[in-house]
Amino acid sequence: MTRHQLRVLGRLFRIGAPSRRLLVAACLLGVAGAAASIGLLAGSGYLVDRAAFRPGLGAIAGLLALVEVAAFARAPLRYAERLSSHDAAMRALVGWRVWLFDRLEPLAPAGLRRWRSGDLLARAIDDVDALQDLYIGTLTPVAVTTCASILAVVVVAVLLPIAGAILAAALVVALGCSFFLARTAGASEASDAAARGHLAADVVDLLQGAPELVAFGRDATVLRRVEAADRALERAGRRRNRAGAAASAIVSLCGGLSVLGVLVVAASAFEHHQLAGAWVAALPLATVGAFESVGSTVAAAQRVGALVAAGERLMALAAVPAPVRDPATPSQLPAGDRVALESVRLRYGDELPWVLDGLTLTMEHGEHVALRGPSGAGKSTVAHVLLRFLPLDGGRATLDGVAIEDLAQADVRRVIGLVDQDARLFTGSIRYNVALGRPDATEAEIQRVLDLAQLSVWVDGLPDGDATPVGHDGSQLSGGQRQRLALARALLTDPRVLVLDEPTAGLDAPTARALLDDVLAALAGRSVLLITHHDDEVAGCDRSITIEAGRAVTG
Ligand code: ADP
Repeated sequence: MTRHQLRVLGRLFRIGAPSRRLLVAACLLGVAGAAASIGLLAGSGYLVDRAAFRPGLGAIAGLLALVEVAAFARAPLRYAERLSSHDAAMRALVGWRVWLFDRLEPLAPAGLRRWRSGDLLARAIDDVDALQDLYIGTLTPVAVTTCASILAVVVVAVLLPIAGAILAAALVVALGCSFFLARTAGASEASDAAARGHLAADVVDLLQGAPELVAFGRDATVLRRVEAADRALERAGRRRNRAGAAASAIVSLCGGLSVLGVLVVAASAFEHHQLAGAWVAALPLATVGAFESVGSTVAAAQRVGALVAAGERLMALAAVPAPVRDPATPSQLPAGDRVALESVRLRYGDELPWVLDGLTLTMEHGEHVALRGPSGAGKSTVAHVLLRFLPLDGGRATLDGVAIEDLAQADVRRVIGLVDQDARLFTGSIRYNVALGRPDATEAEIQRVLDLAQLSVWVDGLPDGDATPVGHDGSQLSGGQRQRLALARALLTDPRVLVLDEPTAGLDAPTARALLDDVLAALAGRSVLLITHHDDEVAGCDRSITIEAGRAVTG
């Protein structure tokens, strides 16, 4: 194992913060189980040898009882060891998931855009799941094998030093082999883990984009690409399995040769009166017992590469700096709701062009302002700046004179609400989606916002009413219904300032106009920034601002 691998595993161990008590218990139980195995085999050999000399039952009764205890204790000890190590691993999984979520949360939404959703999913689910092997499949078996090996070598060496030396040498070669395997497996696992992430991302893309791919006749091509990636992973898996099989073969060979070696030296020592006859069978059988747990270290060594790769991918995710951070001591939320952007500059990357280039705009208390401009002018970016999703590269964004970057993000989002252009709906009922921001809302409040969003006629006509499921991301709804549901959701939270990013997209002009008239009337006294392309929607507002290439051209 390389120093780098050890560092990653050490960090993973600290993050998972498993219960040391459970881990120590698992190791002790494992060692006791391994000792029982060795005792059972060696004791049986000794017993058979002694019995050959017909010493009478009284002379061997004690030993017989001991062998029986070892035989019966093996299974419960092993069971208890698995229970403790799994308990420790499951608790650590919680630690890793919380740790990852704590790091992902500040990244959303702007910081997560660079990751493909399937890749993120693979990291958050598969990579975290893979980490449970750190305790179950790696740490515990290695600790148990090491302790059991030392115990066996000491016991055998006390009885016959040369036999102890043979056993020690064979164990060192077998364990060294596992160690070497861990080193080589590590290199390929890192690239395989990345390939698995890409494959997961491709599959998610394929599933989500299936209608478009089928419609444009590209499904077969994309499927072939996914299959090729799958085959490449399969080949890499087979290569790793071959290496594992070779290591297992070497371990078996070491085990076989050491049993033979110990038998030969034990028989020779007996001939030269250096060893009592009863130990001649016991020593080789103790050697067999000592090798019983070595096989698990081969599997453990094979897992190290996967573990380190999963750990590295999680740490890479956690190391991404949050695009927006809360100030150390956030300012008090002001009472007013005057919103202003002053010479705001923003771009999505150092090499990319300015999206907002010295934009200035204001919105007084209760004003309904339309924000218009050609596609790509920066309108949605303005909405995201106001919600504090994006950091500014210049200028100031203020709420009642206080820079929003001095306010806690949660406070800003309590005051300024957003209905995004492609608002996400969650798998669940209509009611669940509407009440997302205020789960304690009453039936009457939900009914009121459904009325306002002109959804109540449709919802009342459904057999299950607002308990009707919306499907994955609202797939069972039309574009217009989705948009209106998102609008109802925002209206329920009743923010002081509401930013509506093309809320009527997907609706025909008369419905759109009627909907907006209702919504704007209900929002009288609340500030609204309405991003729109439609002139008649602009007419419903108090004034309009047009932006082009990130600058206000009228205001
Ligand atoms: P509008 O809402 O006016 O159509 P946007 O604010 O969505 O415009 O986008 C303005 C510009 O910023 C566009 O050129 C768009 O390509 C770019 N842009 C938007 N989001 C991103 C992003 N996450 N990364 C890079 N560029 C982006």
